[in-house]
Parts: sequence; C-alpha cells; structure tokens
Amino acid sequence: MDFAFDARTEELRARLLAFMDEYVYPAEAVAHEQRARLASPWDTPPVVEELKAEARRQGLWNLFLPDAEHGAGLTNLQYAPLAEITGRSPQLAPTATNCAAPDTGNMEVLAQFGDERQQKQWLGPLLNGEIRSAFAMTEPDVASSDATNITTRIERDGDEYVVTGRKWYISGAMNPDCKIFIVMGKTDPDGADIRRQQSMVLVPRDTPGVTVKRAMQVFGYEDHWHGGHAEVVFDHARVPVSNLIGEEGGGFAIAQARLGPGRIHHCMRLIGMAERAIELMCRRAVSRTAFGKALAQQGVVHNWIADARVAVEQLRLLVLKTAWMMDTVGNKGAHTEIQAIKIATPRTVVGILDRAIQLHGAGGVSQDFPLAELYAGARTLMLADGPDEVHQRSLARRELRTYLP
Ligand SMILES: Cc1cc2nc3c(=O)[nH]c(=O)nc-3n(C[C@H](O)[C@H](O)[C@H](O)COP(=O)(O)OP(=O)(O)OC[C@H]3O[C@@H](n4cnc5c(N)ncnc54)[C@H](O)[C@@H]3O)c2cc1C
Repeated sequence: MDFAFDARTEELRARLLAFMDEYVYPAEAVAHEQRARLASPWDTPPVVEELKAEARRQGLWNLFLPDAEHGAGLTNLQYAPLAEITGRSPQLAPTATNCAAPDTGNMEVLAQFGDERQQKQWLGPLLNGEIRSAFAMTEPDVASSDATNITTRIERDGDEYVVTGRKWYISGAMNPDCKIFIVMGKTDPDGADIRRQQSMVLVPRDTPGVTVKRAMQVFGYEDHWHGGHAEVVFDHARVPVSNLIGEEGGGFAIAQARLGPGRIHHCMRLIGMAERAIELMCRRAVSRTAFGKALAQQGVVHNWIADARVAVEQLRLLVLKTAWMMDTVGNKGAHTEIQAIKIATPRTVVGILDRAIQLHGAGGVSQDFPLAELYAGARTLMLADGPDEVHQRSLARRELRTYLP
C-alpha cells in the first residue's frame, strides 16, 4: 500500500500552499475590514475578486471538477488533499479557487446531466466564476432529510413548468451574484414509485414569482461569506420546459449523484479546519501562562493536542480511502465509506474545535479568532447534506442485511 500522493497532486499542493501563504491568509483581515464597509453585507468584498483573478492566473481554478473538458480533470484522490488546504481558510479559499459549495455540486450536475443549451447558459458563467448558484431542496414544512416528503410542485402547463413551494436554508441565495436555482420538486406526486416523483428544474433568480425572503441564521451567524442560507418562495414561477435537468422523475437519482463527491470535499475541508485549530491551539498554549506555568505544560492541554492529532490522522486516512474507492469502484461501491466519513468527520472536528475554543478562553468564542465561526460551520455539517442519523440508519441496515434471516 502506497500512501504517497502522485506527482501531479504534490505539484498542485505546493502551488496551492504557496497561494494560501502569499495571498489568502493576508487577505483574511482585509476581507473582514472591507465587509464592514460594504453597501450590503451580502455583496462580495473586492479582495475576493482579486483572489479569484490571481488563482485563475496561476491555474488553481475549478480543481474540483473531474471532467477534464470543463475542469481540472483530477480524480477524487488527487483533489481531496487540495480541498483540505482550502479548508484552512473556508471563508475565502474555496471561493477564490472557484471550488465553493454549493456551486461545485451544481456545476457537477450541469456538466453531467445538463444539455448543451443549459451548459452554455449556466455552466459556462459558473465555471468562469461570473455568477453563483443555489440548490433548493429543503422545505420548512416537512422533514426534508427524507426527500420523498418534498411538497414543492413542478406542474407542466403547455411549454412551461409552474413551480410552487417554499424552501429554506438555501445556501448562497442571499448573494446577489446567485443567479440560478436548481429546484427539486414533484412532477408526479401520485406516481407509484416514490423515488420517481421528483424532478429538477433550473429557475433563474429573476423569474417572476421567485422571492428570496430572508436570511436564516446559524447559531446567530448570517454566514455572509457563503451567501447566507435563505428562505425562498416560489409562487407559480414559470420556466420553459427546456429548463428540466435530465428527465422527468430523474430528480432523486440526480440528487444522489450530486452528493458523493460533495461529501469528500466537505470532509477534507473540515480536516483543514481541524489542522488550523490544532495550529491555533499550539500557538496559544506556548504563548499564555496561568498559575506559573505555560498552558503548554498542562497535562490536559497535552491530551487535547494529542487526541486532536490522532483523530485528524484517522479521519484523513478514511477520507482518502473513500476518495480512492470512488475513483476505483465508483460512488455506489463506496457507499458505506461515503456515509462513514459523513458521520465521523463533522462530529470529530466539532470536538476538536470545542477544545481549541476552551484553550483560548473568552477569545475562543470571540470574533478575534476564527474558532467560533468555524465551530458553527462544522456543527451544521452534522445536519446539512443529510443528518448523521439518516446515514447511520442506512449504513447499519446495509451491515445488518447479511445477518437477517
Ligand atoms: C447551514 C445549512 C445549510 C444548508 N444548505 C442547504 C442547501 O443549500 N439546500 C438545501 O436544500 N438544504 C440545505 N440545508 C438543509 C439540510 O440539508 C437539512 O436541514 C437536512 O437535510 C435535514 O432536514 P430537516 O432540517 O428537514 O430535518 P428533519 O428531516 O426534520 O430531521 C430532523 C432530525 O430528525 C432525525 N431523523 C431524521 N430522519 C431520521 C432517521 N431516519 N433516523 C433517525 N433519526 C432521524 C435527525 O436527528 C434529524 O436531524 C442546509 C442546512 C443547514 C443547517
């Protein structure tokens, strides 16, 4: 078993690490200052556009997309360590390199299932970083971890679909650059097969009947960096039938396909956040003294740091193994591993961030360190893309299958 990255990955890692040191970390304070002076908190700070231009110039662009025609053509195993590096500065680096969710998943859907017209109109500008996008599935009125509950209607009326429903926690939708929604709804609510009732349609933001109502909060944060998480109402919004992605009844299958690579990306970015937390813990521990001793000399601090290091090494191996399996046996063959990383990574990283916050005292929950915001972001990943319990249920059922009489 060879644990080394291949030459292309190493080369991209070195370039991305240099880009982070030279441009991204120095831009963090600038971006915060600029954000405080923006006309609207949902606008993008100018320094982000500068970072995008520089990343593109350096070829550190669309690294996530395995499709070589549209993106970098990297395998999951090649891209995963790069996602980890961008996770160290999650507010800036994924956007700077055009590798931010939910655009990544949406671009994958358009590259894989979109027709030529849809790709020209929406995928092209997304790949160029000119616009942003959102994925609208979850609804406040039904338990949306079960996608068969979705009530939004997509009704055919002549050459148009009429979309009616209420969605919430639609990431990115508060950003005025978010020009297109991929909406999941039901075209055949009475169909016999509950997994063939759903379809996906493209709904431009400026369609009459679309209202971005408000920003939902995350532990009191509005998450301006990622375009917020909006409540969006579709009130008889009409789009041409050519805006259907794939076929009628294909929405459930597309949603499943969309989530596999996205989970690798989220988990590797979380590992990057954990690495940043360990670094912050160590720096703080050697620089503060309490009761006559550096914090770094306290046994409990040793335990926190050692446990964090062990956990991160374990997680990284599991996520990289999962990426390798997706590349070699496909998403279906890697089903158990994809669920395992989605269960293990957010909860472990939340624990590491919690220790790092504790070590920083009041500073840990303040705006002067990134820890509180990272904690809020990591905690939501125990819900977003499916709550832990749903993955545990499905993984355990597959495990039990062999033993059932
Ligand atoms: C920050 C953030 C960003 C998000 N971004 C998006 C987005 O861009 N687009 C989008 O469409 N959605 C988004 N979501 C929504 C997210 O995907 C849903 O919250 C998630 O799928 C759960 O759905 P729900 O909130 O309706 O919870 P429910 O389905 O009501 O579930 C509530 C709880 O019930 C329990 N539960 C459910 N099923 C089971 C089971 N089978 N076994 C045991 N326990 C179970 C779990 O503990 C679960 O947390 C986002 C959420 C957050 C917090």
